[in-house]
Amino acid sequence: MAMKRPSTSALELYREQLRDAPTCGKCGFTDEGGTWRTAYRERRLVYRHICPRCGAVDRREFRFDRSG
Ligand SMILES: [Zn+2]
Repeated sequence: MAMKRPSTSALELYREQLRDAPTCGKCGFTDEGGTWRTAYRERRLVYRHICPRCGAVDRREFRFDRSG
């Protein structure tokens, strides 16, 4: 990404939170070794994880509010 980067620390912190195995909010299944898919769109970093057990989609967003 050649986009202007916001404070890396905030993003690092966010990534830190997502480092844990994704746990499904619907069935409670913990996807050990599962990963979040990331997509960048309009100053937002969207993380998605699809539960392998029930197919529920968990979505998190990181917004670059201060990127100007
Ligand atoms: Zn699930």
